[in-house]
Amino acid sequence: MDFDLSEEQQSFVSIVRSFVDDAIRPNAERWDLEEELPLDAVKQMADLGLFGLPFPERYGGAGADLVTLCLAIEEIARVDSSLAITLEAAVGLGAMPIYRFGTEEQKNTWLPSLVSGNALAGYGLTEPGGGSDAGATRTTAILEGDEWLINGSKSFITNSGTPITSLVTITAITDKGGDAKEISAIIVPAGTPGFEVGPAYRKMGWHHSDTHELAFGDCRVPQANLLGRRGDGLRNFLSILDDGRIAIAALAVGLAQGCLDECLSYAGERRAFGRVIGGYQAISFKIADMATKTELARTAYQKAAWLKSKGRPYTKQAAMAKLFASETAVEVARDAVQVHGGYGYIEEFPVCRHFRDSKILEIGEGTSEIMRMLIARELKLPST
Ligand SMILES: Cc1cc2nc3c(=O)[nH]c(=O)nc-3n(C[C@H](O)[C@H](O)[C@H](O)COP(=O)(O)OP(=O)(O)OC[C@H]3O[C@@H](n4cnc5c(N)ncnc54)[C@H](O)[C@@H]3O)c2cc1C
Repeated sequence: MDFDLSEEQQSFVSIVRSFVDDAIRPNAERWDLEEELPLDAVKQMADLGLFGLPFPERYGGAGADLVTLCLAIEEIARVDSSLAITLEAAVGLGAMPIYRFGTEEQKNTWLPSLVSGNALAGYGLTEPGGGSDAGATRTTAILEGDEWLINGSKSFITNSGTPITSLVTITAITDKGGDAKEISAIIVPAGTPGFEVGPAYRKMGWHHSDTHELAFGDCRVPQANLLGRRGDGLRNFLSILDDGRIAIAALAVGLAQGCLDECLSYAGERRAFGRVIGGYQAISFKIADMATKTELARTAYQKAAWLKSKGRPYTKQAAMAKLFASETAVEVARDAVQVHGGYGYIEEFPVCRHFRDSKILEIGEGTSEIMRMLIARELKLPST
């Protein structure tokens, strides 16, 4: 066994960490307040090559592995979850379906700008009527001549309404109403008539990540915008989430590590009853538990990413990593607020924002309940 990062990965982490400290840390609180994706920061992340990490060089990518992408997401999430999810969703949900399921022509058309970070793409699976039950899709795409006629809506779609969003991929029913529901994936370019982007949601956290409801009213796209084989859309979209879960686990670990960093420094300075609070066992044990859970969550996501890189099955490990890391992030963020006392409730202290940003991790890309269902299914338990 070898738990060491490669030298290349270690130097990559230190480059991303310096970038985060210089360009993101001083601005994160302001961006959160402004509730708008800071495109300058996205541009700087693009200049570092972060949006192209897992893609081959022929599309402008770096050809790196999933661990490396996760390391970048973890580093950014230590300080700013909104930018971390912007990167995770751009790569794992936006560009990845085009790369994995697209024709060579679709890849050549869309990937270079997504891989360079000059454009973003949304991934439209969830609908107002249901996210966990993704097969309950109601959006329809009817083939009329050589065009798909799309009607329906999607909810909570990340990166779908920024000034640099170039497309969304969506799932839609493409059958003619037979017994078996046929769901396919389709590329809808931004600005297509009939494709309306709703106002940004007001969210509990992830304030400067871009999230919108999307409406499709008699929206027409060419037949050639079918992504993957007709009827494979749901299966393909769900398989995208396996990798996404590993990346969300990395994001959760970053948030937990950020809380731990803040607590270590605060507990070493804040005094009560004549001693620094870190000297009280009630506080030091809390921080020891935070460090333990964060480290275990990191090991879990890195093992899942490693399994993938070895071409071995990783669905169960990805679900376990996502479940454990997201619940760890929520617990650690709550305890970090507690360690900070009243200041933990004040926005100038990053743990306040981390606490708000943590809850979504138990919901997005599969809720904790769905993760437990997936793990139970992998364990071959009955009725799962
Ligand atoms: C900020 C944000 C960004 C998002 N970004 C995207 C995106 O880019 N693309 C996208 O497609 N979606 C996105 N989502 C949607 C997200 O993936 C869904 O919200 C999530 O999958 C849950 O779906 P739901 O909200 O419909 O909840 P529901 O599925 O209605 O679930 C409600 C509750 O019921 C539980 N539940 C459901 N079914 C079962 C069951 N069988 N057994 C036990 N419990 C069950 C759930 O766990 C949950 O607790 C985003 C959501 C948010 C909030």
